[in-house]
Amino acid sequence: MKNNETASARSWSVDWTNTLFLGGYHLLLFVLLPVYLLNNSPSSSLLWWTLGLGAACLLAITMGYHRLYAHKTFTTHPVIESILVFFGTLAVEGSIFSWSHDHRIHHRHVDTELDPYSAPDGFWHSHLLWMLKKRPEIDDRVIHDLVKRPALKLHHAYYGYFMVLTNIIAIAFLWWVTGDLFGAFVIGTLLRMFVVHHCTWFINSLAHMWGSQPYSTEHTAVNNFILSFLTFGEGYHNYHHTFAGDYRNGVRWYQFDPPKYFIWALSKVGLTKNLKTVNNITIKRNLVAADRHLMVERIKALNITIDREAWIARVEEAAASLTENLNGLKTASDKYQKLKAQKDEEMEAMRHRVAEFKQKVALEMAEWKKMCHLLLETSESKLTTSLA
Ligand SMILES: [Zn+2]
Ligand SMILES: [Zn+2]
Repeated sequence: MKNNETASARSWSVDWTNTLFLGGYHLLLFVLLPVYLLNNSPSSSLLWWTLGLGAACLLAITMGYHRLYAHKTFTTHPVIESILVFFGTLAVEGSIFSWSHDHRIHHRHVDTELDPYSAPDGFWHSHLLWMLKKRPEIDDRVIHDLVKRPALKLHHAYYGYFMVLTNIIAIAFLWWVTGDLFGAFVIGTLLRMFVVHHCTWFINSLAHMWGSQPYSTEHTAVNNFILSFLTFGEGYHNYHHTFAGDYRNGVRWYQFDPPKYFIWALSKVGLTKNLKTVNNITIKRNLVAADRHLMVERIKALNITIDREAWIARVEEAAASLTENLNGLKTASDKYQKLKAQKDEEMEAMRHRVAEFKQKVALEMAEWKKMCHLLLETSESKLTTSLA
């Protein structure tokens, strides 16, 4: 590994190892799957075990490779870590070093030419083609925390052997439980790898193209609940790119995000610790800023005759006041938390101040939501009468 910063993504040559491997296994799957299905009918046990292995691989990538290693959003017990590394290796997505390295660069240089899977370069580039291009060598500085760990260094140095070994173990296991060696290879390995790969790749392609941007419009990442099912919780990518240090991607309890539930449940029995979250007030501040941007853009793009400047000023004024009160609430809440133990007059006064700010924010937020509904969700024809 060299200590040189990432070279420009514009000058590139073919990565033959990746190209032959990815092209080869896709071809093998497309030839062998019809042959297998014409001569056999897969047992339900084979299908269920394959589904289980695929789910374990996706979970290990999202919870392990992504949230544990690339973003360090929690810490975990060595037993859980070993399980995550085993299934992450079985997923055939490269070593923890290379995966985390590319992903950290993706966040740092998102949508620019230094971003390895830059979405503005098109669906196929961000989904798949970027892997066929030779990547610059791993820069130790980008993963300085990971390179200090001997076990992860070993994982990187012998990744190819571990990847083959974990897949041989999976095939042997499926053969043992189903008695179907051909099925274990075609369905349990090739098809499972294909589905897990494309689901992961959707995070780099579709999750930067197809969905909404409630938390930030400063990058192409989007939120899309359909994708969260395909990617095991990574469909809330707009939130993730805005607050990458949060262990959750789907920040609301009902948003489908399996790693979030696992990390949280394991923390209750002491198997995960130091779960990082972003403060609710900070999240709201971002929601307001993103909505403000979307509303101003909509007003500018409207074809109807309205006093544009007056409406933009109204939006700006409401956003500024709401942001100021959210900032006030954050400062007062932080002070109150520190004074809480004192139980004196100063603490009582701060408790009062927090309550005042909460009331102001609630009132302004209700007005803000009405404004968002009017300016972002109402058709242009209806706006003609509402805004005139
Ligand atoms: Zn992304
Ligand atoms: Zn990330």
